[in-house]
Amino acid sequence: MFNLTGDILTPTGWLQGSMTITGTQVTQIRGTPISEEMVMRRDELKFIPGFIDLHVHGGAGVDLMSGGDSLAHIARHQIKHGTTSFLATSMTAPLPELEQVLTGIKQHLSQTIDKDQAEVLGVHLEGPYINPGRLGAQPAWTRDIVLAEILHLNDITPIRVLTLAPECVGDRHLIEHLTQMGIRVQIGHSHGSYEDGVNALKHGVSGFTHLFNAMTPLHHREPGMVGAALAHANYAELIPDLLHVHPGAIHVALRAIPHLYCVTDGTAATGMPDGMYMLGSQEVNKCLGGVRLKDGTLAGSTLTMIDALRNLHSIGLSVAEASQRLSALPAQYLGLHDRGHLTEQAIADIVVIDQDLHLHTVYTRGEAHA
Ligand SMILES: [Zn+2]
Repeated sequence: MFNLTGDILTPTGWLQGSMTITGTQVTQIRGTPISEEMVMRRDELKFIPGFIDLHVHGGAGVDLMSGGDSLAHIARHQIKHGTTSFLATSMTAPLPELEQVLTGIKQHLSQTIDKDQAEVLGVHLEGPYINPGRLGAQPAWTRDIVLAEILHLNDITPIRVLTLAPECVGDRHLIEHLTQMGIRVQIGHSHGSYEDGVNALKHGVSGFTHLFNAMTPLHHREPGMVGAALAHANYAELIPDLLHVHPGAIHVALRAIPHLYCVTDGTAATGMPDGMYMLGSQEVNKCLGGVRLKDGTLAGSTLTMIDALRNLHSIGLSVAEASQRLSALPAQYLGLHDRGHLTEQAIADIVVIDQDLHLHTVYTRGEAHA
């Protein structure tokens, strides 16, 4: 048991006080309310919930699709940037390759979590059931969606999030079926119309994958998939590296979508020097803070969650709101009640930051990583 003293971000605002950690849990929080303005003026440590990233392909030179112990390596890298839980996200690939990657994830999940690793919450299957006309940086291994195939993949290891293009789904009742299985179905890499989006939402689609990127844009006479999201979505993920989406468009999305949350779409190039890296089966170039295919298409990002916090703050969000978009809302989206917030009984996944929003320490399940 130990205490942490400083400024603590709780679901009802900042407290100046202390927090008791017993084992892997927060067991007590005491303090007096304090405004964020005051918090940012004080030279005290600040405690916010660990980040939860629902879209991670790789990190520190390693791509999930390369198999082996890649996931353990990626999980260790996440902690260095404040991410305490994440979804291992696959790329579009031939079926045997997906089976192999999912088997690797299953093995990882069957082991007890190493204290130096962020927790893997499961799989985000990004493709292969996407539109070949909106690949973005996904390789061209797209396939027609078949329920039996998803059931088979889900049997290997449960799929938490599935990104698909609804206009490529012949029978929209399939989306209802996936939703009933507990899979969050998201629209992404889609060439679909506004109507396709609205219709898919009616059949149980619950989110949008990297909103604005790799989907039909909004035009006032043809509102596209972006229009469907802005008009009707409750949840959507967005990459706030300020390269994938203009700050103005981020503000539009924040006004329109109540539970907008942020992801990194992080790749092997994250945390590495400029150079060539693999993203699934494709070679990508990291340069000038971005990762691109040979033709210049953005190919995932090198964003980290702590950078995301600073980016959101730099475009005008309070630290409390930015934190919510990086921790509480992604947890809520997956239906996880034990994390994403600093409350009594929550898992002690904590990010400690200083006044400049730089990372000081990260706690995972009550253990410190300097
Ligand atoms: Zn991705």
